[in-house]
Amino acid sequence: MERLRRLLQRLDGRGYGAYKDLRGETFRFPAFTLHMDHIQGDPFAAPSRFRIRIPWEHTGLPSWSRTPNVREVALRDWVLRRLHGTARRFALHEGSGKSGWLGVDPPGQEILERSGCVLDGDVLEIRFFVGLPARGRRILGRVAETLLIQHLPRWVEEAVMFRPSLSSDLRTHVEVYEDHRFLQSLLLDRGWIAFVADGSILPRRSGVEDVPLPSPPAVPWTSPPELTVTVTLPNAGEVRGTAFPRGVILIVGGGFHGKSTLLRALERGVYAHIPGDGRERVATDPTAVKIRAEDGRRVAGVALSPFIADLPGGISTRNFSTQNASGSTSQAANILEALEAGARVLLLDEDTSATNFMIRDRRMQALIARDREPITPFVDRVRELYETFGVSTVLVMGGSGDYLDVADRVVAMDAYHPRDVTRVAREVVARFPTGRLREVPAPMKEIRERIPLPGSLDFRKGRREVYLKARGVHTLQLGTQVVDLRAVEQIVEDGQVRAIADALLWLSRNRMREGVTLRELLRTVEALLDREGLDALAPRAADRVRFRGVDLAAALNRLRTLRVRFKDDHAG
Ligand code: ADP
Ligand code: MG
Repeated sequence: MERLRRLLQRLDGRGYGAYKDLRGETFRFPAFTLHMDHIQGDPFAAPSRFRIRIPWEHTGLPSWSRTPNVREVALRDWVLRRLHGTARRFALHEGSGKSGWLGVDPPGQEILERSGCVLDGDVLEIRFFVGLPARGRRILGRVAETLLIQHLPRWVEEAVMFRPSLSSDLRTHVEVYEDHRFLQSLLLDRGWIAFVADGSILPRRSGVEDVPLPSPPAVPWTSPPELTVTVTLPNAGEVRGTAFPRGVILIVGGGFHGKSTLLRALERGVYAHIPGDGRERVATDPTAVKIRAEDGRRVAGVALSPFIADLPGGISTRNFSTQNASGSTSQAANILEALEAGARVLLLDEDTSATNFMIRDRRMQALIARDREPITPFVDRVRELYETFGVSTVLVMGGSGDYLDVADRVVAMDAYHPRDVTRVAREVVARFPTGRLREVPAPMKEIRERIPLPGSLDFRKGRREVYLKARGVHTLQLGTQVVDLRAVEQIVEDGQVRAIADALLWLSRNRMREGVTLRELLRTVEALLDREGLDALAPRAADRVRFRGVDLAAALNRLRTLRVRFKDDHAG
């Protein structure tokens, strides 16, 4: 620490480039060691990246927060949140650009595995960002000294070093996470696709704020008796709630009664949520994928024929590629790709679906002959998806009763209260036959697996061999190519986009070769991450967040340069 102090004093007043002397250096502080992995080039550039390593026993953190094993993810998430929540108090505001800034990658409402805090045997490692201070390009050595020698240890002391007053906060965080993981395993055992506990708060404060709407006005979830179950969680004990069974589940109800809000909660239920979020005990099958229309997207070699027969002009859909899909073809591709990637549950909302993909009613069947309509609507395939492939669907549909014929369960949202109206729906089906004909050209065969061709990913940009950049949660830049992820709604943090970028690079360098299917690629990455954590893809990175295999597939599938061939098709 004294050596660092002297170094910083010596750097005072020199040009910014002199900070580079610190790169790769390690300094011993009383409570930890400080490692300087990346030094920024100027005060406006991306900040410098440092690590702090603290022996576990010095943190005072209780051993129950890391055993059993699943708890570790929540503990790491908690430490990072503490650092984030206190950083501002220890930052300095002197100098140009990001001078004096201290921080970690900001976490959202989900408890996720984060590379910003890792447990390395008996060492807790924290990775964070620092804006090395300067005025213009002249180093402010004294400010750097205050920041690193005085403030940094106090920040760590305040955020990380454990004291009894933090115990209940940490305990709830860890227990909520453990219960959620338990719920997700319970779903698989019991044949459910989702669970929503009574009292959950599903609505958010606004479309751009992921925090709960206060209650009141928020109406807490209450289970309809027909779907009510009681589960016993490791920490919360007995919890009552709604079990959504496998099959085809229809969510109906008038506009503004909370249908889409429920579906969005189910989308997010693939992840655990922080205490106070309102969705702590909303759990969804971890492979569930939100499916929506996404016109304009790239599609690479998908066998669309189950949903779209050959297009006007004789364009085959057996092996369909486009740089500009329509609403219905994009939605069909999204479904088929999700199945290929291993989704067991599809989540659809009429608000974000293509009408002609969802329904084709009796009158339209009479007016436009079957052979003039390439689309097999989803209503004619949704049962087959379940019966043949075991893939369940939750569908929000207030606008068409044609789906009543194919639903196993019908849940009506009524002023934010769910009701099971399955029995009434059956009566309606009997009283008002639609007369529509099921129109399927042929049964769906197996999902055709694709092999991404090596060399279809190009990471180069200008003179750089690898250029990868996440711009928010919606955009990934890979080489010169901009990948639009807006429709991949279950990617919830920038750090997931960054980690997906790492995974694409890793796959293209290590695993993408002739004969390896997309499904195998996903499995390899997930096994690697389970075994070695995010560092396996980006060692020492501070801002990576664990993503799902299905979302990695979604990013890969949207690459404009992706080329594929079918596994069972050697013609290419
Ligand atoms: P629908 O899809 O049925 O038209 P939404 O789910 O979009 O309805 O909800 C309409 C509005 O009601 C939204 O502003 C939403 O935040 C709010 N809302 C949804 N669920 C609840 C609830 N449980 N309590 C209070 N407000 C809610
Ligand atoms: Mg809606």
